[in-house]
Amino acid sequence: MNQAMQNEQLAIQQKLIESYRAQLFVMQQKLETVWQKSIADFENQSEGSAGPAIFSQAIRTNLADAIVAFDGEGEIIYPPSAPVPKSVRATGEWIAAQSLESSDRKAAARAYGLLRENSTDADVAARAWQAQLRCLFQAGENSAALGLLGSVLQGGHLDTAKDAQGRLIVPNALLLALEFPAEVEIREKLRAALHTRLTDYDSVAFPPAQRRFLMREFQSRFANSSLTVLLAAEELAAAYLESGKGSLNRESGLRPSPLPGIWQYFSPRGRVVALYRGDTLPTRLRAMIPAATFPSDVDIDFVSPGQETGRALVILSAGATMPGWHLALSVSDVHLRGSGVSGRISSYLWIGAVMVVIAVLLAVLAWGLMRRQIALTELRNDLVANVTHELKTPLASMRLLVETLLNTSQLNEQTTREYLQLIATENLRLSRLIGNFLTFSRIERNKYTFDFNGVSPAVVVDKAVAAVRDRFGATGCRFEVSVSPRLPLIKADTDALVTALVNLLDNAWKYSGEARHIVLAVKGSDRAVGFSVKDNGIGLSSRDTKRIFQRFHQVHGHLSTAGGGCGLGLSIVQFIVSAHGGTIQVDSEAGRGSTFIITLPVQTTISGSSDKP
Ligand code: ADP
Repeated sequence: MNQAMQNEQLAIQQKLIESYRAQLFVMQQKLETVWQKSIADFENQSEGSAGPAIFSQAIRTNLADAIVAFDGEGEIIYPPSAPVPKSVRATGEWIAAQSLESSDRKAAARAYGLLRENSTDADVAARAWQAQLRCLFQAGENSAALGLLGSVLQGGHLDTAKDAQGRLIVPNALLLALEFPAEVEIREKLRAALHTRLTDYDSVAFPPAQRRFLMREFQSRFANSSLTVLLAAEELAAAYLESGKGSLNRESGLRPSPLPGIWQYFSPRGRVVALYRGDTLPTRLRAMIPAATFPSDVDIDFVSPGQETGRALVILSAGATMPGWHLALSVSDVHLRGSGVSGRISSYLWIGAVMVVIAVLLAVLAWGLMRRQIALTELRNDLVANVTHELKTPLASMRLLVETLLNTSQLNEQTTREYLQLIATENLRLSRLIGNFLTFSRIERNKYTFDFNGVSPAVVVDKAVAAVRDRFGATGCRFEVSVSPRLPLIKADTDALVTALVNLLDNAWKYSGEARHIVLAVKGSDRAVGFSVKDNGIGLSSRDTKRIFQRFHQVHGHLSTAGGGCGLGLSIVQFIVSAHGGTIQVDSEAGRGSTFIITLPVQTTISGSSDKP
């Protein structure tokens, strides 16, 4: 059974592997399609867009953790390169205003204000405005500073203005304003204005280094998740360019980037390289495939090139979009045993247990049949031996009597009559013997059937007496019959009951001496009727009385045989009495005669038909 279970387990494992391999293949196809479609679609859609817009679109749609965008010639368009600082020649007024900053900030603010108002150069005016703002804040003129800032924010005319390093002036001014105390409402307005500018990738060209710096500053003051993702993307893109400048491998597919732990995927036409962090890549890959059709304890791993596949059950290449990657499917042992196998194992155990029980039952049955067969064989042998032996005696007697008659030349009438009488007796004996044999045979073959009716005990007695009357009427035998008046009916098969009584009367005759005194009596009560056969014969010891109802058991061997017995009479009586729901008992003493008493229950519902004498 163990071997069968192992084979079954292997077969199931094999089937599982095959089905998992097919599902992994579907997964691989799906992965390829998703990769190709998502990157190619993005590349096509973003064609013609400006670098910052491409970048923000990629991050907002979660195409990748970061991207770098290229133009048709392969030049980087996002993140843009840092602006080249302009050399600005300081005028006399500017130098004078600068020198005032260290001694009198208010005066410096006024000087910068004049510069702003009188300047015809927009950039110079913007820088003067920035310096004026700075001086006002530092001089504690917060409301004046905020008023100045507010008018610029409203007008929007300085939105694209840059300082000498190419940095946008307004966002820096907003951060500066946030350094100083202000009413909550005003602070909130300043915060929102800065956030809008930091997340704006469309209208103003933000130098990337300045945007990253301001984002970090903003994050340190106000935690904001949308900025977290954007800042991480900006930093990753910048680091990528830093690490792999000029040596970018532009082959399509998911490949290691020059940045450790970062994977890159170049779009088919090379306009976009999507960047992925190694730690979040598996989750991203898992999200690309359809809702798992695998059981919960089946695990799918995306194994990167060179990584160990562990104890995977099925390993499949991840396809052309992920060169060197593998899909590894592992299953917990519990699952393998747990799914079909444990069911099979328990069914095997059940089948095994049932088989054992059946085998035991069959063995018991076979043993019972064998014992019965042995008993039947013994019985048949006994019967054949007894029948042949018992039949021989009366037949031999009859043959002897007939031969004597035939050999007698002058037949004397009286002698002839005596001989014929003897022949008739032997014949009767033979008939009784054969009758008992047939009854016994029917009993043994379960062919003995009873025909129960409401019967008067007196009728049974009459019929039994009629059967033995001739013999018992002989001289030397006192035969008394005593039947109590108004006996209740019994439910009985008359013929069977007569056979039982005749057998008892026969025995009383056979096992009594010359001066026989046999009494057949019937008594009754409300509940039972008792038939007794009493003799004054040789009697039985108390030990023998227990065995005489066993078939073929004979106590008085010679006497029994001579009287035409074969040890079946009492067993037949007992069988008949039991079938009537009655009992038989014997009251006997060696040398002092015996009394056999049959007790039968009275009929509970008295039927109308009864055998009346
Ligand atoms: P059988 O044909 O030998 O008489 P039974 O079954 O009728 O067989 O009786 C079994 C034995 O019981 C007899 O062989 C005999 O030894 C003993 N037996 C039966 N009836 C009496 C009786 N009335 N008195 C003494 N012995 C009896």
